[in-house]
Amino acid sequence: MPEHSKIKTTSDWKKFPAWIAGVGTEFNWQVIRANTEDEVREIWMAEHGNDGQSPDSVEVTRKEKWDGKEVTSRMWFNDGLGKFCHDCGYETWKNNGGIVDRNGFVVCEDCQEDRKIEKAKERRTA
Ligand SMILES: [Zn+2]
Repeated sequence: MPEHSKIKTTSDWKKFPAWIAGVGTEFNWQVIRANTEDEVREIWMAEHGNDGQSPDSVEVTRKEKWDGKEVTSRMWFNDGLGKFCHDCGYETWKNNGGIVDRNGFVVCEDCQEDRKIEKAKERRTA
């Protein structure tokens, strides 16, 4: 959970509007709770500013539906946002075949195939 300077207790973040912030196709997007877009940019820059990004390059989007909610991998991924595959660590998206498995892990298309093969092998050797 990204920290806001005004967030003092663990349940405080629920009072702040939810946003996502990041740069283009970089894997530096995150949920940030803050009152204004400027605050979001400030918080994001505090964490990523030394990656060579400028505040102007940070894209900020308001996420009303995530207000007061803990954002799970499933929510993030089903919203079309990218995640690292649990099995191989590569980047994957819902629109390139990625899924969230029943344990809540994001799995890319290739690894789903590998899991099927593994399962078939297990069945054969059992
Ligand atoms: Zn994978």
